[in-house]
Amino acid sequence: MSVRIEVDLGERSYPIIIDGAKRPEVHRQIRAVRPDRVFAVFDAQVFALHGRALIDDLKKSGEPACSLTLPIDERAKNRSTVNEIHDWLLAEGVSRSDLILAVGGGVTTDLIGYAAATVLRGVSWGAIPTTLVGMIDAAIGGKTGINHPLAKNAIGVFWQPQFVYSYTPYLNTLDERQVYAGIGELIKYAGLAGESLIAMTSELVDVAGIGSGRKLEKAIAVAAAYKAALVSEDERDVGIRQFLNLGHTFAHGLEQSLGYGKLLHGEAVSVGLLAAVYLSEMTIAGARTNLAGYRQVVEENIARVPRRTIEVDRVLKAMEFDKKRAGRSIRLILLKRPGRPVIRSGIDSQRIRQALERAVQFYRENGGKRGADSHH
Ligand code: NAD
Repeated sequence: MSVRIEVDLGERSYPIIIDGAKRPEVHRQIRAVRPDRVFAVFDAQVFALHGRALIDDLKKSGEPACSLTLPIDERAKNRSTVNEIHDWLLAEGVSRSDLILAVGGGVTTDLIGYAAATVLRGVSWGAIPTTLVGMIDAAIGGKTGINHPLAKNAIGVFWQPQFVYSYTPYLNTLDERQVYAGIGELIKYAGLAGESLIAMTSELVDVAGIGSGRKLEKAIAVAAAYKAALVSEDERDVGIRQFLNLGHTFAHGLEQSLGYGKLLHGEAVSVGLLAAVYLSEMTIAGARTNLAGYRQVVEENIARVPRRTIEVDRVLKAMEFDKKRAGRSIRLILLKRPGRPVIRSGIDSQRIRQALERAVQFYRENGGKRGADSHH
């Protein structure tokens, strides 16, 4: 299966290719860009698993290529890694007619995209996401950047890639916990996009070790197309692109209150989505009935989130902090029904607390019952 989706941004338009073929074929994308040289930067773990085959494929594009491998994780998403990449690119004589490839998960594409945006005031880049989070979210839309000690993703620029090439067999080597963190994000898209993706996603939640099956590929394509449409309308995130924050204000509060890394982002999103669903039910007429089916999928997925102790007060405090940074009253994305998100601000803080308490209660009772942390 191969699917092509366009991100439509005038002269900065680009394709997203979702490919389940026997071998990766990124050289076709590279040829279309016609760079002088190719500089590939790999997540070390991804290089160990898939580097050879990808480099063999790169050779087919005909351009001279060189590569750099870095141990990349969330802690490496910082200035000093960017410096290291810049040092390498400049020492190798990178020019503005070259192409930089980012091969790895969301950390890699955020980081390398940012390094590409800032070297020589912007060199073209291509994203080769290798995680589910990367394929449905991080690699799409041109938000690139790094963390600052004071705040996650606080330094960055919009710099769209030339293409996003998602080779789904890479997902076969991803560990189960990472896959399910991606499913958490997929469930977010299901709420935004509506019934058909909910049906697809609920099947995935049910199956253990889903690997890169056809169903998953289809769901990736629907989610990627949804994001591509929002980005095409609102590249700079001042309007409807904010729908993608469904469940995320809660999730960021959860992550911050626990300390980064205690839960994977997609896991925190799973709990955040539940709070957003409960809050929608409490504040929007008809939502309780309309969201019943979706709530069930969201609740079911909580069993995949490893158990951690969450203190509601601390989460709310972290959400307050987020609000101050945004410089306006807390803005939440809620759902009227599947496929009908709304942006709401000025919601009574008691209601927000109640929704979060209910979600945390549910998570306390059901978290960790299935998945990588349990052995059922
Ligand atoms: P990640 O990049 O840290 O990858 C997760 C782990 O999986 C890493 O240990 C990596 O080495 C390993 N890995 C990657 N691909 C693999 C494969 N095919 N087989 C085996 N192991 C593999 O995490 P992630 O979840 O992909 O991305 C999270 C990051 O994405 C966060 O930093 C977040 O801020 C960012 N993000 C950005 C956007 C955006 O719009 N720019 C959107 C969502 C998330």
